[in-house]
Formats: sequence, structure tokens, C-alpha cells
Amino acid sequence: MDLYDIKQGDLALLGLPIDHNSSFMTGPAMGPQRMREALHCGAANLTSENGHDLGNDTRLKDLGDLQFEDTSTAIACIEKHAEEIIATGARLLSIGGDHSVSGPLIRAHSKRYPDLNILHFDAHSDLYDEMQGNRDSHACPFARAMETGRVKRLVQVGIRTLNKHQQEQAEKFGVEIIAMKDWHRDIALQFDGPLYLSIDLDVLDPAYAPGVSHHEPGGMSVRDLINTLHRLDANLIGADIVELNPHRDLVGMTAMVAAKLTKEVSAKLLSD
Ligand code: MN
Ligand code: MN
Repeated sequence: MDLYDIKQGDLALLGLPIDHNSSFMTGPAMGPQRMREALHCGAANLTSENGHDLGNDTRLKDLGDLQFEDTSTAIACIEKHAEEIIATGARLLSIGGDHSVSGPLIRAHSKRYPDLNILHFDAHSDLYDEMQGNRDSHACPFARAMETGRVKRLVQVGIRTLNKHQQEQAEKFGVEIIAMKDWHRDIALQFDGPLYLSIDLDVLDPAYAPGVSHHEPGGMSVRDLINTLHRLDANLIGADIVELNPHRDLVGMTAMVAAKLTKEVSAKLLSD
């Protein structure tokens, strides 16, 4: 990773190809590569829906994939590199990888941005204290983030798997949950202060995004998610898009959804 060219006002795109913290199946380590292929495949251009041509915006800089020495140090490695990138004044959009990457990413952002808010789209609240003995599991990143005490608000949207343990964790940490059953198209999300966005692709209905490890029916449409992002009233300072599992994808359709979201989120990160 070469930080030489990254400066204030830029948007750094960083791939995090890990899946050893996945509880059910591997595959998301191949996610960043497939998302980039979809982004540049020639079937679509690089313009977001609000007319931002990312192909002609020199502030968008792809740093490639972070290389990990071994799995035991991967989480610490992500936190260190995220800190270095955002210390330049650039914003960071990370592409996963499983959701365990969000723990270190949020810790890094919360050090630079006091009063950080988090908006988290997911079928799962990922608030487990531990999963299969692993506190860095992809089922735990939002517990790890909240334990820092540096997060002002965590708002979770699209949740449809909340069990008793995670309900207790949500109460303990003061998490605001907009469950999928209560979500509606006109919901307006507003945040005071800096906002970090985390999108787990399984917030979408498996009909729209089958390329994820955990199929959880009854989710959002791609259109609903994009409209919610467009209407978001907040100062977006960083984001991740995670859990693309190419093993489960059909004709690359979920990779294309992830690429589309990458464009929409990038445009927002470059406009605020
Ligand atoms: Mn999920
Ligand atoms: Mn998740």
C-alpha cells in the first residue's frame, strides 16, 4: 500500500480480502477482486445516479488490496492501515471481506472523529459478545466498536434475526434498531456530526443479492437501499461494503450490486 499519493480531500478505495472470521462459510476473501471486476467490466459506466463521473475524478484512488502476513494479525493490521490512510485527511471506502473488518475500521475512525455516528445496514445486528470462541468473528464487530465508548450513536437498519442475546447487547450499548419489519420507504435518517456507513450486502433480499454467505429472506430491494442512501442527511466520512461471497453468486449479479453501491457511496463520500 503506497500512501504517497493520498491527500486531504481524496477518497481511498481499499480491498480487505479476508474471510477467516466468517462463522458459516468462506468466500468473502474473493469479494474485493470480484467487485473491482464488476466496477470496470465495461457493461456499465462509472457515473453515479446523481451524475458524478467517478472515472474522471482524480480524487478517487484505488489502493488495491491490503496484504496480510497471517490471519492472527489481520484485524490489527486493518486498524493500523486505516488510521494511516485517514490521517492524511483522505476518506476511506473499504470493500470486504467479511464483516469482521468493520470492528477495526470503526475503531480507527472513532479515534480521528469524536462523536462518531454509525449507520449499519444488515440482516443481522452482529452484536454477539463472541461467536464460536472468536471475539473477532463477523458476528461481533459492532460489540467491539461499541466497547470503545467512542461511538455516539449506532443505528442498525434492516435487522431481521435479533435473538435474546443480541437484544440484550443492543440494550446494553444503547443501539437504535430499525428492524426490517418496521422499515418503510419514507424513513428519513438524519445524523448530527460525522457518520460512518457499513453495508452488509445481506441486508438486501437474497432475490436481489444471492452472493452472500447467509441468505436471510425478507430484505430490502436494491432500489430501496439506494434511495435511502440518497436521502441520507449526514456528513459521511467513511464507509465499508462487505460480505460479497462469489461462491454463492449467480452470473456475477451480486458483484454488480456491490459495484453499483460502491459508485453511489463513493459519490456521497466525495460530495460531503
Ligand atoms: Mn449479515
Ligand atoms: Mn454483518
